[in-house]
Amino acid sequence: MSNTSITKQAQSKQISPLVNRWQKVVNKVKQAANQANRSPDNVQLLAVSKTKPVEMIAELAEVGQQHFGENYLQEALAKIDKLKHLPNIYWHYIGSIQRNKTKDIAQNFDWVHTIERSIIAQRLNNQRPDGLGKLNVLIQLNIDDEVSKSGCQPSELKQLVVEIMQYEKLQLRGLMIIPAKDGSDAFIKTNKLFQQIKQTYPKLTMWDTLSMGMSNDMEVAIANGATIVRIGTAIFGARD
Ligand SMILES: *Cc1c(COP(=O)(O)O)cnc(C)c1O
Repeated sequence: MSNTSITKQAQSKQISPLVNRWQKVVNKVKQAANQANRSPDNVQLLAVSKTKPVEMIAELAEVGQQHFGENYLQEALAKIDKLKHLPNIYWHYIGSIQRNKTKDIAQNFDWVHTIERSIIAQRLNNQRPDGLGKLNVLIQLNIDDEVSKSGCQPSELKQLVVEIMQYEKLQLRGLMIIPAKDGSDAFIKTNKLFQQIKQTYPKLTMWDTLSMGMSNDMEVAIANGATIVRIGTAIFGARD
C-alpha cells in the first residue's frame, strides 16, 4: 500500500459521532465500576439498538462492542440475519415475550432478559435447537412497579427459579429490572434478593448477572451491583 492510500484510510477512519458517544459510555462504565471498588471486567455494556439501523450496529461491532439488545422481535430477526457474517456478536432479547414468539427467540438469541413466568421458560427450553449452546436467561423482577404488571412478583421468585433450574437448555444467570422511577431503592432490593437466591440454591453455579441501569441511571446501578447495564440513548442518540 502506498503512503497516500494509508493516509486516506486513516482519514476515513476518523472517529464518528456514534463511536465517540460509545467510547464515552465505555469510559463512564469503567469509572463507575472503579468508584464502586468493583472490577470494570464485571460490568458488561449492552448496547440497546432497538429502532436503530444495522449500519450503526456494524460500526460498533467493528470497534469492539459485542453485546446488543433488541426489544422488537421482527425488527431484531431482520438485523440478526443481515449481520450473521459478523463474528463475536451476542444478541440479547430484552422485550416482552408472548407465547407465539418463543420459538424465534430460542433459535436466534444468546440471552433473554425478560422471563417472568414459567410457561415462557418451558417453551424456550423446548424450542432451543440442539446445535446451539444453552440459552442464557434472566428473570425479570417486578420490584417496585404497581403500574405496569410486567415482571415476576418477588413473592413468586423462588418458585420460578426452581422451575427454570431444571431446564437443560436454559442457563439461569440472574435477575433483570426496569425500575418504575428513581432506581436506587429498587437496585438495592434487587441486589439483596439476588444474593439471597445465590445462598439458597448453591446448585446455581452460574448465577452471576444483575441486569439493571439504563442511560440515565447507569452509575447508580453499577454502584449497587449491576453486572449488565442496558444503554440505548447515550450510545445511539434519541429514538423517534
Ligand atoms: C430501551 C430500553 C433500554 C435502553 O434505554 P435508554 O434509556 O435508551 O438507555 C434498556 N432496557 C430496556 C428493557 C429497554 O426497553
